[in-house]
Amino acid sequence: MPRPFASNSAQRQLALGVTTRVLRIRIKDKHASLLNRQSIEVNQVWNFCQDSSLQILAREQRFCTAYDLDKLTAGATKEGLSLHSQTVQAISAEYCTRRRQFNRAKLRWRVSRGTRRSLGWIPFKAVAISYRNGQLHYQGRALSLWDSFGLAGYKLRGGNFSEDARGRWYVNITVDKAKPSAAVPQMANSVGIDLGLKELAALSTGAKVEAEQFYRDLEPALAVAQRAGKKDRVKALHAKIANRRKDHLHKLSTSLVRQHGAIFVGDVSSSKLAKTRMAKSVLDAGWSSLKTQLLYKGDDAGRWVRIISESYSTQDCSACGTRAGPKGQSGLSVRSWICPTCQTAHDRDTNAARNIELRGLALLKSEFSVAGEAKAYEAATNKAWLSQAGAGLGPLAEGIPC
Ligand SMILES: [Zn+2]
Repeated sequence: MPRPFASNSAQRQLALGVTTRVLRIRIKDKHASLLNRQSIEVNQVWNFCQDSSLQILAREQRFCTAYDLDKLTAGATKEGLSLHSQTVQAISAEYCTRRRQFNRAKLRWRVSRGTRRSLGWIPFKAVAISYRNGQLHYQGRALSLWDSFGLAGYKLRGGNFSEDARGRWYVNITVDKAKPSAAVPQMANSVGIDLGLKELAALSTGAKVEAEQFYRDLEPALAVAQRAGKKDRVKALHAKIANRRKDHLHKLSTSLVRQHGAIFVGDVSSSKLAKTRMAKSVLDAGWSSLKTQLLYKGDDAGRWVRIISESYSTQDCSACGTRAGPKGQSGLSVRSWICPTCQTAHDRDTNAARNIELRGLALLKSEFSVAGEAKAYEAATNKAWLSQAGAGLGPLAEGIPC
């Protein structure tokens, strides 16, 4: 059965019945020196991979594979390298993946010392790691961590250890968790979310979530520290800003999941980003972590969370479906408009969020009808503005099998 508005990853997750996510957990500082030592060896292996790759390219006019590199690095662990052999293989695999991903013959060398030192990074494969008695076991060593997730409840897969700019170490680990059986939402309401540039998010309820200025009050201190060349202070302030941002996103996703039985988020397109000169990585990171948080928190709470296509969501009227709203780059400055067909006054972003919600509900309806759960749909659509005037499900539902 086609699901025109479900994204691929959402479909995959549905099909597997498990959720995969990456947990980032702080390692206690007493292990930093061990990890630092190992990361220097990782750099040596990485640079060896690069060197070998360049030689093979020059000699044989081809890009080597991870398999080639595995043969070259085999035995390195016996000759004084303290890394797990699986870690060595994880490095060569990562090297080849990144080279393909960036479409480059040469990547950056990893630097172990000096001002251009690369932040520590130690990849590992699933077989190299286990969790027992509250500790992470890696290479015969037990690493203590600030385990806020309860790692014991997950199946551990591959990942890496990484160091942040302040010298703190984290384990970033991919985990599987069996999905709780999909329950009828305890909350009989739904919400659509339009992630945006001007505000972080507009909700179909009409609420707006400001893109918080996390650093305003820290800016003077940051400027002082930068002028004085106090690098550690600058790093600490940047970390503080990042923590505030993370905290803000967590609070937002938690409250959305608590208050709604069904949550629909637009699949923010890169075209939206292309229309701005704003700090892309920051926006992008905020959007994707909010989506990820909603997916896993919603999962745990038994909520329906779906990523929904947002194409034409700003142009379509959420009341009657006429495609008459602002479009393209020139339309970006239009914050509100009136539908020429039904005369409804729209806030640009709220209208987009409502369209996302309508599409999400239509998607759920098609899912539920397959499962014979029409009742849950009724509960999920029990919403005042939806029951008005056909609720726009007519033209919008085009292409949705329901
Ligand atoms: Zn209209």
